[in-house]
Amino acid sequence: MHEQSRSVTYTLSTPAQYLKGVGPKLSEKLKKLGIVTIEDLLHYYPRAWEDRRQLHSIKELRPELEMTFKGIIRSVHFLETNNRIGIVSATIEDGTGHLLCKWIRKLSFRYDVFYSFKKDLKPGNPILVNGKITKDFAGFTMMVNEYEVLAQAQENLIHIGRIVPLYPGTEGIQTKFIRTLIYRALLEVELTDPTPKNIQNSYHLMPLDSAFRKIHFPKNFEEKEDARKRLAFQEFFYFQTVLSLVKQKRQVSKIASYIIKKHLLTPFKEKCGFEFTLSQKKVIREIFNDLLSEKPMNRLLQGDVGSGKTIVALSAILLACENKLQAALMAPTEILAEQHYITIKHFLKSLPVNLELLTSSTKKSKRQKLLKECAEGKMDIVIGTHALLEKELQFKKCGMVVIDEQHRFGVKHRLILSNRNPAPDVLVMTATPIPRTLAQSLYGDLDVSIIDELPPGRQKIETLWKKEQDAYEIVKTEIEKGHQAYIVYPLVDESDKIELKSAIKEFQKLKNETFKGTALGLLHGQMKGSQKESVMKDFYSGKFSILVTTTIIEVGIDVPNATVMVIENAERFGLATLHQLRGRVGRGGNASCCIVIANPKTEESKKRIEIFLKNQNGFELAEADLAIRGPGEIFGTSQHGAPNFKIADFSIDQDLLEPSQKAAKEILLSDPSLIKKDHLVLKEELRKIFSKTWVWATIA
Ligand code: ADP
Ligand code: MG
Repeated sequence: MHEQSRSVTYTLSTPAQYLKGVGPKLSEKLKKLGIVTIEDLLHYYPRAWEDRRQLHSIKELRPELEMTFKGIIRSVHFLETNNRIGIVSATIEDGTGHLLCKWIRKLSFRYDVFYSFKKDLKPGNPILVNGKITKDFAGFTMMVNEYEVLAQAQENLIHIGRIVPLYPGTEGIQTKFIRTLIYRALLEVELTDPTPKNIQNSYHLMPLDSAFRKIHFPKNFEEKEDARKRLAFQEFFYFQTVLSLVKQKRQVSKIASYIIKKHLLTPFKEKCGFEFTLSQKKVIREIFNDLLSEKPMNRLLQGDVGSGKTIVALSAILLACENKLQAALMAPTEILAEQHYITIKHFLKSLPVNLELLTSSTKKSKRQKLLKECAEGKMDIVIGTHALLEKELQFKKCGMVVIDEQHRFGVKHRLILSNRNPAPDVLVMTATPIPRTLAQSLYGDLDVSIIDELPPGRQKIETLWKKEQDAYEIVKTEIEKGHQAYIVYPLVDESDKIELKSAIKEFQKLKNETFKGTALGLLHGQMKGSQKESVMKDFYSGKFSILVTTTIIEVGIDVPNATVMVIENAERFGLATLHQLRGRVGRGGNASCCIVIANPKTEESKKRIEIFLKNQNGFELAEADLAIRGPGEIFGTSQHGAPNFKIADFSIDQDLLEPSQKAAKEILLSDPSLIKKDHLVLKEELRKIFSKTWVWATIA
């Protein structure tokens, strides 16, 4: 099979299995690394590069250093020890001295671990060895890291004597093997660059095949960086092109135009009980400008936890109501939807608007009634959960859709609501801030508004890192004062049965031992809607002093009497979640604190907790997070539906954002649907990359 396949030229879509040395078994293993085609292989970028360019002579050897030598194999010995270790020893000589080289392998019952060594290490053969020099009573020895037998010409060195790429491996696949495969693929592949010629020229991009060669097998580190930048540009360019396509597609007509009448807005403002902050006023102006314009609004409202996004959304909703349009407010959890319903009902109590709550636990008879009223336009505002997305729910004329805590929804949910023609105005809100530069590129299809101040009189939430016992003492003190507490367990995946079990066990322990005599409630995601509701009610009313819970309370819950939060195993939460959780306390007039109990196992995870202790402000947290973390993992971006960039790195490639955006615009200006011959490969490439993501759903 190999002989046959080697006679054809490989293209990017050739299965990696056709490469020499890849049988069915290995190709299964490659699949686990996400490598199916030659293209996947070329996109399997090194995790690091090691400089093994410099060759030394044996007389220059220094103990403890990792060095590379070239010599002739003089003798080889194989030894099996009683405790099933195999040792290969070879002496090499380079004219300046001798060196003993060793390889140590665990013996296997299934195969001969010496097999490849017996094949490679023949006395008289020239060889390159790389490894660490150790010294003992017998003299110097090299523990060999990698070696390469010099059968081929010098320039074909792959593993030694050059800058060598290191790849993330998997069980049964070594970095050396991946390196060999990529080397072979690069020799034989013939590729077409999807980036159009004129963009390649005007942005001075090196040819794609050189970029691949230089990223995997660079001659020097400058060359590697040039190639990396080139490939990063390409990644950004693809993403920006797709986002521009989304925006372009959005030039639909909108449901209605608005006039500001004020018969609802003015009494709402007067009766809400506080003065809007300057930030709130600014973003309301931005939103109203959108509403008054011809095009449908697609705006992201970012504002830290507690910054007062709800009344901003409510202002927009009321403008819709003033114009005889219906509005929908969607929240990620039933608890939050219900809380919104209660708060908003309170704000609007003397105003002539109909407000209803619709969730999956709404009783059937009530539900039928609501659906009917909504279709007939008798209902002005409907608040709910995912239930609002169901087809049954028809509006007479829905002009405004608000999605709260957007980071908890998939982007496709937003699109279900906003991608109608004519389209409603859509406002999505999130308290999970991402750095501005990122927001602009990740939410390229949205306009962004930011509330950057908190209402006056907010308490700073003291954040402490304590031992469990000390944390519980603080909880006891607060409860004695008549306040309430949250204790949060890391149920990262609410459907994880084992984790849930341990959280419930901890709850029993807290209830029967640590806080014996105090009323504790338990709330988690797998409880029935009605159960959740009743626990929540009892916590609001003060019947429970302590709520033991999971990240289900991450968003929206507002119990002003809760003054302390304990977060168990805080090292397991991301910064975004920690910050959201902390936002549950400090909502009343009392001094509040958030205590983390953590046992970080890595430096990064320790740093993350330290950053959390130091920063109160969500935007600062986001910036700090960007500085310590790699691409793709930045402060909740994966939740935001951002693509996983393989090589572009937001912390070092921000300079590429603007040019790549410009390039994308240039292309679409000349060919809005990418139908020109020169752009077909690009379009196909975009389809390949994005077809499984939300973005594609909107433009396909
Ligand atoms: P979030 O942005 O986290 O959704 P909310 O909208 O829930 O914040 O507001 C948090 C609290 O602050 C609520 O109790 C709300 O009534 C109150 N609030 C909002 N705006 C103001 C303001 N301008 N002055 C005083 N309190 C405000
Ligand atoms: Mg909110």
